Amino acid sequence: MLGAPAPIGRTARGSGSVTALERHPAAPFVGLPPFSPETDPLEIIGWALATHPDLVMPSAFNLNGVVLIDLAVRAGYAGEVVFVDTGYHFPETLATRDRLAARYPELQFVTLNAGAYPEDGQTPDNLYACDPDACCAVRKVAPLQQYLRGKAPSALLNARSRDQASTRAEIAFVEDGNARRKINPLAHWTRQMLEAYAAEHDLPVNPLYFDGFLSVGCWTCTRAVRAGEDARAGRWAGKGKTECGLWDGAGQL
Ligand code: SF4
Repeated sequence: MLGAPAPIGRTARGSGSVTALERHPAAPFVGLPPFSPETDPLEIIGWALATHPDLVMPSAFNLNGVVLIDLAVRAGYAGEVVFVDTGYHFPETLATRDRLAARYPELQFVTLNAGAYPEDGQTPDNLYACDPDACCAVRKVAPLQQYLRGKAPSALLNARSRDQASTRAEIAFVEDGNARRKINPLAHWTRQMLEAYAAEHDLPVNPLYFDGFLSVGCWTCTRAVRAGEDARAGRWAGKGKTECGLWDGAGQL
């Protein structure tokens, strides 16, 4: 269905019309190529590597993230994959990280807050239940923000896609922020396309996915998705929260 990968899009650099962003401080001579919703993610990643060779990829190893890792390696990415251990991850998620690290030795898998555990004193007991925003801020957002302040990459490669949730329905291939650019090559890929790619390439998908955990976060805050719900409906269900704060809100990356 997905066909052969398109040529890496370095030839698009600087060509065509600039559609959304004129300039970025980290890449002052490069405008956006004329990407369309049908643009192959490999082309987006190729452009990202050429434009932001210092880019970094955060990941939680969900289906989107696993597909993006494989595509990025095919496009020539050999940088870091940064994961934040909140202390509340499912064992299956940690095992998925380890399987990916074994499969892609050209990547550097970085685990922040490694060895965290629920009773480590970083947050009060049950903070995830009474104030999940505060818990995410301490256990997830702060470690990654601190790491990125040190590394200061000009861009992040991210796996979010529009059909994950209504709150992500407008995600663009490229988002500019105050600190760095965010590049989302899978923005227009559907869950069916991701599943087909993962199956075709025999990717090590988190086994919880096949039990209905279409988006897997901490075990304290994730349930399986029910029929008719979107892929992220199982995250913080019933708590009025849809994002951890990495990609949305005041502390976003
Ligand atoms: S997802 Fe839940 S347990 Fe994990 S950091 Fe956020 S609030 Fe805390």
